[in-house]
Amino acid sequence: MNIYITRMIPEFGIKLLQNKGYTVDVNTKDRPLTKKELIKALSKKQYDAVLTLLTDTIDAEVMDAAPSVKIYANFAIGFNNFNVEEAKKRKIYLTNTPGGGADRVAEHAWALILALSCRVVEGDSYIRDGKFKGWDPMLLHGSKLAGKTLGIIGSGRIGTDVAHRGKNGFGMNIAYYDVKRNEQLEKDYSATFYSTVDEVLKIADVVSIHVPLLDSTHHLINAERLKMMKNSAYLVNTSRGPVVDEVALVEALKNKTIRGAGLDVFEFEPELARGLAKLSNVVMTPHIASGTDEARHDMTVLSTTNIINTLEGKIPPNVVYN
Ligand code: NAD
Repeated sequence: MNIYITRMIPEFGIKLLQNKGYTVDVNTKDRPLTKKELIKALSKKQYDAVLTLLTDTIDAEVMDAAPSVKIYANFAIGFNNFNVEEAKKRKIYLTNTPGGGADRVAEHAWALILALSCRVVEGDSYIRDGKFKGWDPMLLHGSKLAGKTLGIIGSGRIGTDVAHRGKNGFGMNIAYYDVKRNEQLEKDYSATFYSTVDEVLKIADVVSIHVPLLDSTHHLINAERLKMMKNSAYLVNTSRGPVVDEVALVEALKNKTIRGAGLDVFEFEPELARGLAKLSNVVMTPHIASGTDEARHDMTVLSTTNIINTLEGKIPPNVVYN
């Protein structure tokens, strides 16, 4: 059986597959393949499985180029790069790595929240630019978090982990919006459920986004909703870039409609909306929220397990559709 891996993953994952007797080919370029390159690579052999990244668009055209493929296994928690309906029609499994790195993403969301509220990046630049002349009672005031409201948009694994840290670590009150009510979150963290995103945006001091990218969540945070937020509030996005209208966000940050934003993901990744990088009230990281050895280890185990199960004729554990 032949497996194609679209970008280098931890070496032990390749060994796990080879030890099962599979032939494994890996893209040797140190960048994502273009769709044309992916189609060309998949046309070279009769592949049975493909291990994919979020940067690989898996649509009808790609599936047509590789008719023997039984599974596209994402090395990612999200799966917005898949055309689910096409795969269902063709009875191809699509899998992801739920939970693989979720706690790390929560830590990263908190790194962004604290960087904003403690003005870490601005302070660092201030010193490096030679501006620090000694203690100044008026210098770079941030915001205290204890007693304030943390608004969680999407209360799944990561949203829950962020709420846990907010409640137990920083003494924040938890408000949340989700399409499904999360009674456990309410019980564990005295979280208050709101049935609309607008209600959470109006009351939260920090808004942290943890929804998947779907048609229903594309531009969930738009110009109109940014205006509903408090002027003193921070918006943090570690979910997917297109959940936030980035052009509208730049305007809101410029006009001080909100106080700041922490972003790990971008609407036009790796490009940034015009003007974003010039703003001092935004803290950015290059989509590294799940970037730890531990998370990559878990993602390797989950994605290769999905492939091995499929090739052994079993249903893989993490199919993204019902
Ligand atoms: P999850 O499936 O456990 O939780 C998602 C939650 O969003 C669920 O509770 C679901 O009911 C809710 N939801 C779905 N549609 C909604 C809508 N329209 N409005 C409100 N809520 C809605 O997923 P998770 O593990 O918590 O991950 C969340 C997202 O984080 C992933 O889909 C992925 O896109 C992103 N992520 C980003 C990184 C990164 O590196 N920045 C890493 C991992 C995951």
